[in-house]
Amino acid sequence: MKISQKVNLIEPSATLTISARAKTMKKNGLNVLSFSAGEPDFDTPQCIKDAAKLAIDQGFTKYTPTSGILELKEAICHKLKKENGLTYHPDEVIVSCGAKHSLFNAILTLCDTDDEVLLPVPYWVTYVEQIRLAGGKPVFILCDPKTLRISWEDILNKITDKTKLIIINNPSNPSGIVWELETLKKIADLAIEKDILIISDEIYENLIYDGAQAKSIASFSPEAQSQTIVINGVSKTFSMTGWRIGYTAGPKAAIQAMGRLQDHSTSNPTSISQKAALAALQCDQQIIQNMVKLFNQRRLLMIQLLHEIPDITFPVPQGAFYIFADFSSYLGRSFDHQRIDTSLQLAEILLEKALIAAVPGSAFGMEGYLRFSYATSEENIEKGMTQLKNFLLNIT
Ligand code: PMP
Ligand code: GLU
Repeated sequence: MKISQKVNLIEPSATLTISARAKTMKKNGLNVLSFSAGEPDFDTPQCIKDAAKLAIDQGFTKYTPTSGILELKEAICHKLKKENGLTYHPDEVIVSCGAKHSLFNAILTLCDTDDEVLLPVPYWVTYVEQIRLAGGKPVFILCDPKTLRISWEDILNKITDKTKLIIINNPSNPSGIVWELETLKKIADLAIEKDILIISDEIYENLIYDGAQAKSIASFSPEAQSQTIVINGVSKTFSMTGWRIGYTAGPKAAIQAMGRLQDHSTSNPTSISQKAALAALQCDQQIIQNMVKLFNQRRLLMIQLLHEIPDITFPVPQGAFYIFADFSSYLGRSFDHQRIDTSLQLAEILLEKALIAAVPGSAFGMEGYLRFSYATSEENIEKGMTQLKNFLLNIT
């Protein structure tokens, strides 16, 4: 069968592929320790599940408006005001089937053929494929390999007449970096001056540590807000990855256009999940703080154990639940006479021989790195990092 050129261009998602492979190996009885998962391991809080059950029992099981029910859009506006200092009207909000779907709709809505989209590296796997699918051209902004931050000069150097969009993910997947306020402010000013649109993916905003502050780039000024499409969702903050609810807030024209696209693709996100997301936004915020506290303990443990491994470096992450570590000194070496030249080969060997799942840096545009998720128990972290350290001694 001949597959369309558009879809033929798309690579499978490395994050989803490795997580699925690790799960299959586990099912087959192998004791795989997975650090590949990009999802909280906690159960969805009970009050959220109860709201979904009630929705089913009350027959809330029919189509809703494409952009989501008004109560949920109002709750999102309330959240954006209270937590981000951003004022939106419900007409400036659209709820979609996960933040990935929100991003898909936003990129397809804003990006024309040959438009350039600035993408800081390392980037989350999906951005690059969505840009290509929309016919746009990803323009990579390389980071400093030690700090994993991009410099202001590097951004300026990449601006051309064709620059349409910049994607900011704050805190970042895979690096866990929280963007500096000064850089964000400069990007906001530049976007206003050059009429560049900003997609601000804030899905990890609540998962921050060490007193870091993940400010929304839209909140620097009303003009910055007009240039920005804010993407967020309930997947990470409320441990609701399977419920598939994400949302977008932005200028009405963009939101209406995304609504037209959604009208002819998915229609509304699941009615029951919308009620669950409403309960999540209204729940006791202590639930989030409890999860963040546990993530922080795991983060500190993984940092400590990775520091004991020779020849790897990483900047201490202050957000999300990932550590992106430089393993390049292990490339060019061999395991059991098998030479390892890429992070993919290293990740393959770790999975097959050491039963440890991590995502290769190449999936995020950076060769030589591995991403470890600490969204798993302290026991697994302790066991896995010790196993990793011992196994790496065999790579010579
Ligand atoms: N953005 C980033 C940076 C992510 O890591 C993820 C994780 N899947 C998403 C968006 C999408 O989240 P969702 O599960 O809501 O689609
Ligand atoms: N965002 C998560 C990750 O990066 C989940 C998997 C995915 O949707 O790509 O691992």
